[in-house]
Amino acid sequence: MEIFRTMTSLDYEQVMFCQDASSGLKAVIAIHDTTLGPALGGCRMWAYASEAEAVVDALRLARGMTYKTAMAGLNFGGGKAVILGDSRTEKTEALFRAFGRYVQSLGGRYITAEDVGTTTQEMDWIRLETPYVTGVSVAAGGGGDPSPMTALGVFRSIQAALSEVYGEGDPAGRTVAVQGLGSVGYHLCKLLHQAGAKLVVTDLRKEAVHRAVREFGAEAVDLEDIYDVPADVFAPCALGGVINDGTIPRLQCRIVAGSANNQLAEDRHGAELEARGILYVPDYVANAGGVIHVADEIEGYRPERVRARVEGIYDRVRDVFALARKKGIPAHQAADRLAEERIAVLRQVRSTFVVHS
Ligand code: NAD
Repeated sequence: MEIFRTMTSLDYEQVMFCQDASSGLKAVIAIHDTTLGPALGGCRMWAYASEAEAVVDALRLARGMTYKTAMAGLNFGGGKAVILGDSRTEKTEALFRAFGRYVQSLGGRYITAEDVGTTTQEMDWIRLETPYVTGVSVAAGGGGDPSPMTALGVFRSIQAALSEVYGEGDPAGRTVAVQGLGSVGYHLCKLLHQAGAKLVVTDLRKEAVHRAVREFGAEAVDLEDIYDVPADVFAPCALGGVINDGTIPRLQCRIVAGSANNQLAEDRHGAELEARGILYVPDYVANAGGVIHVADEIEGYRPERVRARVEGIYDRVRDVFALARKKGIPAHQAADRLAEERIAVLRQVRSTFVVHS
């Protein structure tokens, strides 16, 4: 792949290739933009089919973090790391400590965290080599599982979207179809149930479905049937790419709002939802509770501050809809514009007022 062409086209600052023979580490750290602050983004461990695929993933995810942190109102930029390897069989302390030393060598330009294939255990190992890691275990001073805060942000997004569509944000009596009952999906169902919503759910794991039926009176449907459920809201909380050419014509909802990353298979699917009168809450705005949670740990975790910031997602979503209405553009484009504007304005401020320490 032509790496410099890619970096130039989407304005990446830095890509670091990390290799350590003694531990077997092969990793890529991508830093997209540090205008707002150090690049924050998780460390993914995945058995990529090729090295090029790993690099593309790191780049794509790092840029996504720039938009997510900007829209969440955080003082962090966007970055991401990928470790090439099988997370089930190849995790060792030496590997993650070698990775930690590379993170340390960046001097704070990049702060790593948990992601797919990594857990607090590995973050604790990284912490032994560098302070530039968040999402460590509670025992090591961390804030614990971010999923409840991610779920709260999605819940507030749903309220904002209901208010936009129906002029009334109360979920009571509304039907929400939830795809995926993992850490986030379960907590989201709990909040919706407490608020009086009716739930229709699905998951690969039968025990997760039974639990939602038992605890929340949810109606269970088969995996593929979740797209056809007549509902006010469809909440994808499992996989990316579920809003695509095959699923859009089947959707019978007014709103799509969930926690999954990269819900739109392609950018154009955001416009297609809009054309069908379905309001889309851009995924990275709705699911920012997790990054707000791990970012707070860097300042010294304060649960009440995290909750207040996550509650603020309601207003961010309203801002997105307001701009979309004003400019006549789909919501996902409005979110991108707001993020880009915040970065551009603060780039100007930071270059105008140089503060010497
Ligand atoms: P999780 O692994 O705990 O849960 C995912 C659930 O989806 C599992 O129960 C799994 O069985 C189910 N699933 C997988 N494929 C499915 C399918 N085809 N149909 C229905 N269910 C299926 O993950 P999570 O932490 O709950 O995260 C859910 C999504 O939200 C992911 O896309 C994740 O990247 C995103 N996200 C999570 C957080 C967080 O704080 N955990 C933050 C931001 C974004």
